[in-house]
Amino acid sequence: MWSNCLAYFKERLPEQAYQTWFDGIAVSTLTSEEIVLQVPNQFHYEWLESKYRHLIDAAIKEVFDKPMIVNYSVVVSHKKPNEIPSLVQKENVIPPGYQEKTQLNSRYLFDNFIEGKGNQLAKAASYSVAEKPGQTPFNPLLIYSITGLGKTHLLQGIGNFCIRRYPSMRVQYLTSEKFMLDFIRAIQENKSTEFANTYRGVDMLLLDDVQFFQNKEQTQEQFFHLFNELYQQGKQIVLTTDRPPNELTGLKDRLVSRFQSGLMVDIQPPDLETRIAILMKKAHDDHLEIPFEIIEYIASHIKRNVRELEGTMVRLLARSSLYRKDITMELAREVLEEILGKEAFIGVTIDHVIKSISREWKVSERQLVGKGRKMEIAMARQIAMYLSRELTAASLFNIGLHLGGRDHSTVIHACKTVEKKMLGDNELKKRILRIKKELQPVGSVSIY
Ligand code: ADP
Ligand code: MG
Repeated sequence: MWSNCLAYFKERLPEQAYQTWFDGIAVSTLTSEEIVLQVPNQFHYEWLESKYRHLIDAAIKEVFDKPMIVNYSVVVSHKKPNEIPSLVQKENVIPPGYQEKTQLNSRYLFDNFIEGKGNQLAKAASYSVAEKPGQTPFNPLLIYSITGLGKTHLLQGIGNFCIRRYPSMRVQYLTSEKFMLDFIRAIQENKSTEFANTYRGVDMLLLDDVQFFQNKEQTQEQFFHLFNELYQQGKQIVLTTDRPPNELTGLKDRLVSRFQSGLMVDIQPPDLETRIAILMKKAHDDHLEIPFEIIEYIASHIKRNVRELEGTMVRLLARSSLYRKDITMELAREVLEEILGKEAFIGVTIDHVIKSISREWKVSERQLVGKGRKMEIAMARQIAMYLSRELTAASLFNIGLHLGGRDHSTVIHACKTVEKKMLGDNELKKRILRIKKELQPVGSVSIY
């Protein structure tokens, strides 16, 4: 029956998605009501659950002729992937993550939110309101950033913190989309009064992705009243949006000015160290052993989005466990190529970078790879490190090794120095970008 389900997925999914997420998934337990799917790791489970749950339900309904409870078991193995079948160490069934009433997911905590320059303020503010809901000047607290940088994580983190510290507090997490859909349904069913009362009694309202309210006038109106009511009672309100409030077109001015009346903080994309730390924490929390070199490799290529960062790791793990392949640089590169596009990688090596820099900065190749510390040479070497990190698949370790036998922290420092200099020196920036363009093959997509 499960192979019929697999056929169902195969028919409906792109080949790549099927292979990554379903090929090789087995059933570990089957009763008349429950089916337990055996997945290689926590990530895999979360991915199936968040992206494919409806499809899995639909397949089961068709094949089994009735709905079933779907659970997952993770096979944790610290041995090589190709030895998994005989070396099962631990199997545990994961409880569903979302709590029905509060809509909180226990996996989003302050504890597993890695702090970096880009999100420090947002985290500190979130923590303050979680500790003293409604009693800080940060009401409402509004967190904004482009997608995938941890807004939902923080919002949920606030809720999870509060329900643990203040068990009697009524915390409500809600996406703006759900708010709107529930409201529309209420109108259809002639229950708008009931709807208006639904959230009146909460002590803390966590509303995610408010940009959804753009151009939805009735919904905005409805929310405006709820906002005022909660606010007047001193209840804590936290909101997120994907852009600063003053750029929220299609939102009524009076709503926007309410949003702006507390504290607004943004989240900026994480720097390299933060990205590495996030991946290491993930790997650790999920009991995964991934070589540091590979974590660093992924972190240096995926820059703007934590979700994508995690997604890359998920894909790498899925690939490794489904095909029983070791996690190697080669596999990592394969996966990154799929995500970023092959062109992003073709051919650029540290040697190419060294040649270009040598030509442009009139420093010999030997000087670049040597240890000399004369200023022009050191500067050119730093730029070579920066471009190697930007353009090649080499790890920081290897870049350091090639360019003066330095360690990876020197390379990180060099990249930062160059980035900073580029900010203050337009000529330099242009020069570096020109070389970057020269080095990248024609028609290639930009990696970032
Ligand atoms: P947003 O709501 O801004 O689009 P999310 O909160 O959904 O972003 O974050 C995307 C993913 O990245 C989530 O799995 C989240 O746990 C993770 N994430 C984002 N920032 C961090 C961080 N600083 N530390 C750990 N995980 C993070
Ligand atoms: Mg979000």
